[in-house]
Amino acid sequence: MFCEVYLLDTPYHIDRPFDYSCAPGLIPGSIVRVPFGRSGRTRLGVVTKVKESCEIPEGVTVKGVAGTVSPVFTLTEEMLGLCFFLKEFTLCTFGEAVRTILPPGAFSDILNVRYRRTARLILSKEAVATLLSATGRSGIKSEGQRQVLRFLMDIGSSDFEVLKQLPTVTTAHINALRDKGVIAIDEDEEIRNPYSEYAKARDTSEIILSTAQMKAYDTIESLYSEDKPRAALLYGITGSGKTKVIMKAIDRTIADGKSVIMLVPEIALTPQTVSIFCSRYGERVAVIHSSLSQGERLDAWRRIRRGDVDLVIGTRSAIFAPLNNIGMIVIDEEHEHTYKSESDPKYHARDVASYRCGKHNALMLLASATPAVESFYKARTGVYTLVPLRERYGGASLPKAVIVDMREELRLGNPSPISQRLYNMLLDVKENENQAILFLNRRGYSSHISCKECGEVLECPRCSVSLTYHSVGGQSSLHCHMCGYRSPSPRACPSCSAEALSFLGFGTQKLESEMSKYLPEMTLMRMDADTTTGKLAYDRMLDDFRQGRADILLGTQMVAKGHDFPRVTLVGVALADTSLHVSDFRAAERTFSLLTQVIGRAGRATEDGVAVIQTFQPTNETIRLACRQDYDSFYEGEIALRRELSYPPFCDMVQLTLTADDEGELTRAADELSSIVKAKLEGEYSRLPFVVYGPFEAQIYKLNEKYRMRMMVKCKLNSISRRMFSEILCEFAKNRQVTLAVDLNPLTV
Ligand SMILES: [Zn+2]
Ligand SMILES: [Zn+2]
Repeated sequence: MFCEVYLLDTPYHIDRPFDYSCAPGLIPGSIVRVPFGRSGRTRLGVVTKVKESCEIPEGVTVKGVAGTVSPVFTLTEEMLGLCFFLKEFTLCTFGEAVRTILPPGAFSDILNVRYRRTARLILSKEAVATLLSATGRSGIKSEGQRQVLRFLMDIGSSDFEVLKQLPTVTTAHINALRDKGVIAIDEDEEIRNPYSEYAKARDTSEIILSTAQMKAYDTIESLYSEDKPRAALLYGITGSGKTKVIMKAIDRTIADGKSVIMLVPEIALTPQTVSIFCSRYGERVAVIHSSLSQGERLDAWRRIRRGDVDLVIGTRSAIFAPLNNIGMIVIDEEHEHTYKSESDPKYHARDVASYRCGKHNALMLLASATPAVESFYKARTGVYTLVPLRERYGGASLPKAVIVDMREELRLGNPSPISQRLYNMLLDVKENENQAILFLNRRGYSSHISCKECGEVLECPRCSVSLTYHSVGGQSSLHCHMCGYRSPSPRACPSCSAEALSFLGFGTQKLESEMSKYLPEMTLMRMDADTTTGKLAYDRMLDDFRQGRADILLGTQMVAKGHDFPRVTLVGVALADTSLHVSDFRAAERTFSLLTQVIGRAGRATEDGVAVIQTFQPTNETIRLACRQDYDSFYEGEIALRRELSYPPFCDMVQLTLTADDEGELTRAADELSSIVKAKLEGEYSRLPFVVYGPFEAQIYKLNEKYRMRMMVKCKLNSISRRMFSEILCEFAKNRQVTLAVDLNPLTV
């Protein structure tokens, strides 16, 4: 027999199957060791095909498969298909796809499996008692062995580890008793489930839906029942209770004997969601995310593979969960950028979900209050079924949002980042014993330090970005938010030595110190990446705030996520402008979604909520529409603009990034890449519609000591254009000093 094997670690330009001979019985999907190259050193590979014969050029001998790695991780037919799908649609190597689909640690020889060993008596208690009292050769004299037997006579069986805790007992004593046939030792795979605690408080209550929610559910249910690949967009405004609708749909699917994957943008930011789902679906839930240990991830994977799980909740990579018989894949907050992988394979979870739903005849359910423009376009044009949910649940009204012109504040002589209006409203909150959230999408103290004498801007020595000034408890330092570089804060300008440094662009730390100056009577909690470093710091903070241990929760987008704080009646956006001016065609979309989410935090319960949006551009359309929570109008404006300027969804975008240590090499490589692309598009592929931009310097030209240049191609992605980009990658592989990365439809440009 022969088989085709893809190597796990191989450069893109030689990523193809190699023939090996093998013993009968080997199946496609097996992970194998094969000798490779002149040295014959063994490498890991995946069998993609088994065949009776293979064409052997004269004088060549086909080598044989050296061995197989644990069968636990054999890829199913669907998973092999997924690997080919990823390779074709993201231009990664087959091995990168395999490594993404399998849990980390799957390839180690010593499987990271823990066994729980239990010792139990084989002989009857009477027989053991005889042994213990017997003298001479038939008796047991070793004190360690005698202790083990006495212990087991009391309780019948015991954990191996517990026995070893007895005063004089060693492993040898226990093994000796086994060898004598007095006891047996059973081994059982021990599977870790760090979420089993949640499962103990089972919630089996029936889900009661409002009329509007019921209508949405009915549409979803009927799509699901078609038993064909279907896709729906649950477009539910904040506070409409879309989670309940999703839960009801999950109940329905599981009751049908099918399984569900539910993706969330970030586990750490959604502890409430996880606990709700774990307590509803108990031990049949697996949670997958990147902060699990390698062993925990492996165990979750094996539980799923064994069929012990009906519902997988997790972040992006959970989309590859090895479930059989998938009935539905839910992507909650589908517009979030975390669903797109930034490293190879650069896949979007939505595309993988769509592929898998196709294979399983399942329903893909996207949910969002501010859908990605591309998704809403598909819903409008009938590719997805649009399921609107426009009513706030429980009669709560949308929060009122007011815009405050910060230019006016300056004119009135108020230099602080808190307007008079917001200040007064914060005082009201305190008086009524309510709570407030204050949002600022910038951490640190000041994001920009420059010299008033010579104009020098303090930049990271490793990146072309300005350093952020951090000041906590009298300790001050400069941080680079891109590469993590840190240095002490200088007193004088490093360029001209003048003591004339000015600090601009306030962040959460400065806001915190200003607040305690102006509103000393209010207690404050700051939540950003700098205050939530411990594993549970984030959960604890949310909990403390919910318990009322602070009047104001101040922070970055972490405070904007789907938490329910019943006593929050005021939301302040300190500066709505921060994300507007990024030179990315999605900047408006991102700003709109973030502001909508933050404003939606106000008045989740019965109290009417108010949101105050401070900005230097009070007439900005995106800000105005976000204040009205008017996604439909925002979408209309945005889609018209994209159509006019030819941006997705009206075309695809491909980003080619060159990275090098040396600027000279980089410039030469950029010329070379440019002529390769030009030759393709004017030659073999001249019939493809395309527009090419660049090469130009990346927005952050220098990142962690490496220089980067880019080209951008607007085109229509299909099998032909993808082949062209694949060829470009292969041709460029000759250049060893400069690496080329291709991103099909990147989320940030
Ligand atoms: Zn200076
Ligand atoms: Zn840096």
